Amino acid sequence: MIATDPGPHVPVSPRTANLAALLRALRAGPLSRTQLATRCGITKAAVSGLVTELSGRGLVRPAGLLAGHGRPSRLVELNAGSACGLALGVEAGRFSAVVTDLEGRVLAERTETADVAALGLHRSMDELGFLAGRVLDGERPVGVTVSVPGLVDSAAAVLRFAPTLRWRDAEIADLVAARLGLAADAVVVDNEANLGAVGESVAGAGAGVRELFYLSGGTGVGGGLVSGGAILRGARGFAGEVGHLPVDPSGERCPCGRVGCLETKAGLNAVLRAAAAPGDPLHDPALGVDGRVGLLKHRVSRGDRRAAAAVSELGFALGVAVVTVADVLDPDVVVLGGYFAALGRWLVEPVRRELSARPLAHEPSCRVEPSPLGTSAALRGAAHLATERLFADPTLVPFRPKPSETTAEAPV
Ligand SMILES: [Zn+2]
Repeated sequence: MIATDPGPHVPVSPRTANLAALLRALRAGPLSRTQLATRCGITKAAVSGLVTELSGRGLVRPAGLLAGHGRPSRLVELNAGSACGLALGVEAGRFSAVVTDLEGRVLAERTETADVAALGLHRSMDELGFLAGRVLDGERPVGVTVSVPGLVDSAAAVLRFAPTLRWRDAEIADLVAARLGLAADAVVVDNEANLGAVGESVAGAGAGVRELFYLSGGTGVGGGLVSGGAILRGARGFAGEVGHLPVDPSGERCPCGRVGCLETKAGLNAVLRAAAAPGDPLHDPALGVDGRVGLLKHRVSRGDRRAAAAVSELGFALGVAVVTVADVLDPDVVVLGGYFAALGRWLVEPVRRELSARPLAHEPSCRVEPSPLGTSAALRGAAHLATERLFADPTLVPFRPKPSETTAEAPV
């Protein structure tokens, strides 16, 4: 698994750093103390004390014996159910909440449809806090990551601007922390496409890949980059914002003021307008995003010419934008996420075609894949970063020695 940065770094003591190294090593499976010592570069005597502490925190447990030469050694494994992370999602039309264990398994999830812009920031945060309480059901998460569709100043934990929600300078992390009774530093807020890129690099089309570009299709179009295993943020945290890349100099004027931005061609509403006349059920908000995209997919499959032409034009626009990104960043893989994933069978080829026409096309080119996680990629990435906090600092969960260990030296 590629390690991804858990957000702002909190300095930890050398002992805590060693606890963290052991816990991360155990993600790959059970290990003996000798194996842990070798992998982490820590003496075996020190490993024994550290394992006792991790066990006292409930984070590891015995996992049988490793047979070999001489005496079999005792194995320990990650106790994945000992702590949980919380991922929260805010989109224009819904709130989502997912609780996962330390291996990313979903323990509980809920979504709630809502007109988030109409609710406003504070009522939205109330709704989100309420939804979080229901999925947590009394559990206390080790970390919370909130996915939002906008520009996030990750260092300040502030959503600077979300056009679809009409929110500016929203202190989301503080507002969520207050509603959940958590310390503000336990809550991280990040852009939906950044988190989608993390989700894909952890468990999706980019698993095991170090350089990944994630293109997220929704009402707007966003992009997220994972480079060397970490989110590439740029100077102010706004890297990857590709929605306003110019792709058609003779195209429509975009609300941002430029002409022919990617979003004017690839935003969901623009594609639906191109695919069907006004008044068509394809524009019915009651169907939700998934329903309208499903209907569009159905029409293209059965040969509806107008729908097929709209999706073909979408594929060309994505290709133009992806070529620009690929020239600058040279990713291993480009993942088409959000609603683009559902239309992947018609979008991947046009994007590949544009990439193969590049001057460097004789070189092995980057892969283009539809997201296997679809619209859940951002929440998957958010949940990963929420639990990642514990893999950076295992002392976030309290030490509770078993009765037999109370005479042992209590770690500090
Ligand atoms: Zn624009």
